[in-house]
Amino acid sequence: MFDDVFHFIESQYPDEQEIPLHRPLFDEREKKVLSACIDSTYVSSVGPFISEFENKLASYTGSRFAIATTNGTCALHLSLLLAGVRPGDEVITQALTFVGTSNAIAYANADPVYLDVDSQTMGLSPAALLRYLHEYAVVRELTCFNKKNNKRISACVPMHTFGHPAAVVEIASICQEFSIPLVEDAAESLGSWVGSKHTGTFGLLGILSFNGNKIITTGGGGMILTDNEELAIRAKHLSTTAKKPHAYEFYHDQVGFNYRLPNLNAALGLAQFEKLEKYLLDKKTLANAYKNFFVDTPFVFQDERNGVIANCWLNSILVKDLNEREVFLRDSLQRKIHCRPIWQLNSNLPAFKNCYRDDLSVSQNLASRLINLPSSVRKL
Ligand SMILES: *Cc1c(COP(=O)(O)O)cnc(C)c1O
Repeated sequence: MFDDVFHFIESQYPDEQEIPLHRPLFDEREKKVLSACIDSTYVSSVGPFISEFENKLASYTGSRFAIATTNGTCALHLSLLLAGVRPGDEVITQALTFVGTSNAIAYANADPVYLDVDSQTMGLSPAALLRYLHEYAVVRELTCFNKKNNKRISACVPMHTFGHPAAVVEIASICQEFSIPLVEDAAESLGSWVGSKHTGTFGLLGILSFNGNKIITTGGGGMILTDNEELAIRAKHLSTTAKKPHAYEFYHDQVGFNYRLPNLNAALGLAQFEKLEKYLLDKKTLANAYKNFFVDTPFVFQDERNGVIANCWLNSILVKDLNEREVFLRDSLQRKIHCRPIWQLNSNLPAFKNCYRDDLSVSQNLASRLINLPSSVRKL
């Protein structure tokens, strides 16, 4: 039964001896841009490629401002601080996410509150969010509190899993009703849209990642998106050691961070960004091929829902149960095809095991049955 699947995957990557889950794709263009960057000597946190990369991403996503950072996790950490998250606060998120989401909340010394996801989007469930807030939340002077423990609920962080847009319009309106700043983890969803609006631009702040496994890469890198000018200025200030601009004085007006994306990485990002549209096209073609193939199988392909555009970053299927998942993963590895399970629920990880968790039955079901399939862009 799996044999047909493996054979189909091999047919999509005929030139590869070993099929990775998701590898980046470079050509002469990246080498040329990187070489120019090295020749300029501006390889570190100052240089023209950084703002050029920021401008390209702001314009592409329709965000008024974009601030480049060393990775997506620190972009999220900074965004939470800018949204007003303080030590001891609660931050609502989904249990089914990459650990970076939870880590960023922990860096802000806040407590994640884990809610369930929807089975189709694999992102935060608006129904679960509303249920949680009706039971726990009280709003006083435009601040949301957990009425059972009196902690502030100071942000909500939905995540667009594998590039499938979460129900972010509904989530944004609930957050607004309860005066909770919305911070989107759009690390995986560059090129994913809800209507004409890019993921990561629905809330106060949103973040992207350019890690090596993402749709385009800067090696390591991230981006903060916001329409709020004051927050954008503070994001840049805080990510550059909170140094006041001055011709020679080193004056830092608070504890800042060294979170600025180096020019070298921005150069790589610019060359990658030129290819984004082509990558998205190839990914859509591959996703459609998978979708058509799985129609005649017992496996359920996780398809894009109506009314949204997913970037098809990572394709995935659901198998029958945990047991079948184990056999599938073991057999695929033997065939040198790198498939992967979805993350373990963050609420089960040692660092977060004491955090509040709601009913997580949909997350649990996905966690035991989901398999990511090889999804790299083919040679163009
Ligand atoms: C990749 C990713 C991040 C951030 O990753 P970095 O490696 O720090 O750039 C955060 N959240 C999710 C869901 C991710 O997939």
